[in-house]
Amino acid sequence: MTIENVVIIGSGPAGYTAALYASRANLNPLLIEGYQSGGLLMLTSDVENYPGFPEGILGPDLMALFRKQAARFGTRYVQKNATAVDFKSSPLKVFIDKEEIHSKAVIIATGAATKWLGLESEKRLLGKGVSSCATCDGAFFKGAKLVVVGGGDSAVEEATFLTKFASHVTLVHRRDTLRASKIMQDRATKNPKVSFVWNSVVEEILGENSVTGVNIKNIQTKQAQKLDCEGVFIAIGHEPNTGFLKGQIELDAKGYIVQTNRPTTQTSVPGVFAAGDVHDILYRQAVTAAGSGCQAAIDVEKYLEKTSGH
Ligand code: NAP
Repeated sequence: MTIENVVIIGSGPAGYTAALYASRANLNPLLIEGYQSGGLLMLTSDVENYPGFPEGILGPDLMALFRKQAARFGTRYVQKNATAVDFKSSPLKVFIDKEEIHSKAVIIATGAATKWLGLESEKRLLGKGVSSCATCDGAFFKGAKLVVVGGGDSAVEEATFLTKFASHVTLVHRRDTLRASKIMQDRATKNPKVSFVWNSVVEEILGENSVTGVNIKNIQTKQAQKLDCEGVFIAIGHEPNTGFLKGQIELDAKGYIVQTNRPTTQTSVPGVFAAGDVHDILYRQAVTAAGSGCQAAIDVEKYLEKTSGH
């Protein structure tokens, strides 16, 4: 059976950048893209914060360019999902259903999925006023009234950040205490443009072709109210795409891969490296994911030099 030098799992900015660097290093990488390639950027419209595109670029267009650039140097693509791994074996094994791929090294760049409320209206109005990324989309809401959902650091930080653009931000949280750190809370509570609606959930996002408001309900008093707004930012957390790795590699309490030898991308398994949102709860930007994909490929190169004289 063929033994690959490196298998990269995941096709967002981290995976494609790892593939670009690994292919230019003559490692002939195999990238398992998943059935839906491109990662979270496929769900965004304009990307205005990826350097090199002063006019902005559509998320799917940016990902198509990433893919093309890695292909130019010989990256091979598999458009299926990796379903399991066996990292206790040598060489390492990656499974696509019953198909088995053997490799000397693996880069995991499967990202994290945004948690959504699960409303039909949320899905329908995604990109039309509904967003999960204030850094990406905040600037489209100059002078607007906005709603942010959540009570953690992301929600509170996003609410404060969005006041740079918005006329007012209402944070809707399902409890009456925030989970966010004290300093973030202080910043938001002191901001005259931020107000809070406690013990409440968003039941419906209103609007035909763009957001016009939300229906919210107080879960204690059961009282319903409508809030007018032009944008809704969902910030109720992320879930790393690591379900297929359980028991094979060290994960933290929330399921993110632990990098065990910082600042490298090395994980608890020799020869396995992690890049992008699958390990990063803090930055979660396309450009930081791309950067860590580059680091992972360089780490693989060094690892292979050391272990197999490649
Ligand atoms: P998080 O800490 O898991 O908070 C998620 C929030 O959303 C919680 O307040 C939770 O409510 C609420 N929530 C969850 N599911 C919900 C649902 N279905 N409906 C309504 N509300 C729901 O997530 P996060 O804020 O994204 O933060 C993730 C990690 O990144 C944390 O460790 C955080 O400290 C870190 N972070 C750090 C910074 C920073 O330091 N600058 C910035 C952002 C994030 P409950 O409180 O009731 O559970």
